[in-house]
Amino acid sequence: MSNQPELSFRESVDLMFNRAIETMDLPLGLAEQIRSCNSVYQVQFGVKLDNQYEVFTGWRAVHSEHILPVKGGIRYADFANQDEVEALAALMSYKCAIVMIPFGGSKGALKIDPRQYSEKDLEKITRRFAQELAKRDLIHPSLNVPAPDMGTGEREMGWISDTYQSLFPEQANGMGCVTGKPVHLGGIDGRVEATGRGVQFGLREFFRHPEDITRAGLNGTLEGKRIVVQGLGNVGYHAAKFLSEEDGAKITAIIERDGAIRSENGLDIEMVKAHIAEHHGVKGCPSADYTEDGASLLETECDILIPAAMEGVITKDNAARIQAPIIAEAANGPVTYAADEILRKKGTVIIPDAYLNAGGVTVSYFEWVKNLARIRFGYLERRNEERRGQIIVETLEKMLGTTVPPELRAQLTTGSDELALVRSGLDDTMRNAYNKIRDIFNTRDDVVDLRTAAFVCGIERIAKRYESMGI
Ligand code: GLU
Repeated sequence: MSNQPELSFRESVDLMFNRAIETMDLPLGLAEQIRSCNSVYQVQFGVKLDNQYEVFTGWRAVHSEHILPVKGGIRYADFANQDEVEALAALMSYKCAIVMIPFGGSKGALKIDPRQYSEKDLEKITRRFAQELAKRDLIHPSLNVPAPDMGTGEREMGWISDTYQSLFPEQANGMGCVTGKPVHLGGIDGRVEATGRGVQFGLREFFRHPEDITRAGLNGTLEGKRIVVQGLGNVGYHAAKFLSEEDGAKITAIIERDGAIRSENGLDIEMVKAHIAEHHGVKGCPSADYTEDGASLLETECDILIPAAMEGVITKDNAARIQAPIIAEAANGPVTYAADEILRKKGTVIIPDAYLNAGGVTVSYFEWVKNLARIRFGYLERRNEERRGQIIVETLEKMLGTTVPPELRAQLTTGSDELALVRSGLDDTMRNAYNKIRDIFNTRDDVVDLRTAAFVCGIERIAKRYESMGI
């Protein structure tokens, strides 16, 4: 293996992009227009915390503005840097196009370890950062709409929303300046679980296609499949919870910051989560074997490996030792370009990030639409649906001369609330996108894997848009 250092995250994403465009017939120069990051804003700002001033560095990258607003999370991490933000912004452009969510791509980051600050300080820092971005229209309901990412959540989005709306109270659509807000502050039911839920829906769709399962050397359904999850944060937790509780998969190992735990019988996700909350790590978790060398469990035998932590965890150094036949990329960029090449040659099936973790931005889109429309989903139709269900039940009973079983009656006469509709829309999105991707993979000989197919799908849509716009 070469001793060359691995490429940066952005270079890695660009090479994946290049691999896709080699199979396409784009007009000269258009690929460059799509690939390049349109703009990056870097800000340094001081905040007075107690009696001293601290200077923070933040970024907001706008990758592609073929549709406005541009969309993408804001990450709080001590390792944040411009290259990473640009890579993540590019992935957002492709991601939105792949799942047909009408946004361009953006991403932001603040270089900070949020665990080192009190809630009060974090609020002050977040509000100041939000002001800096809003001043330059890098937070704006029709231009640039942030969301949660690693190290941020509903709480931060609530502060950002309030900061923006205090600055621009006359902006009628102010509520739509950011997504992932608490539900009582204009958020939407199902946004917190959305990325993990999307991973579940994506994997379910994969397992609906026997040829795809066979290609990975597996058979059957998700039931009983052994899954290793790296990172039990918001995405990893929800994906692991839903796959184990609803699809009968077994989470045989969880890798966290302080090490990893495993149990061949399957781990109880709620129990592990509670343990982490109390002990700040997985060490000592009951009914599980602990190892300090967490990364080694990426290489353990299992059916599906779900990296749900951060980028660059599967590299040219460990790719050859990965035994999982399927890697389901819940995080953004967990597999580097070099690792991707090694894994493809080995026959590993990778369900790529730009498709599989699109659940977050999909439900963000629903939230943004809800904010602009000023009405919650299901408000108008719910009782009408229930009335129709009631009529069907009564008709069936009259015609058959027997009573409809209570469980069926309850299903037929319960109208869809916001959560049910959000999940339905997300499921539809994940199913349609997977079928489009596999269709490209199956019908084009030079498209070598699902990642390339996903990129081709996204790039084609962005290119069409640019061509029609006349750029
Ligand atoms: N940060 C998430 C992502 O990487 C969500 C972005 C959004 O909802 O805008 O996809």
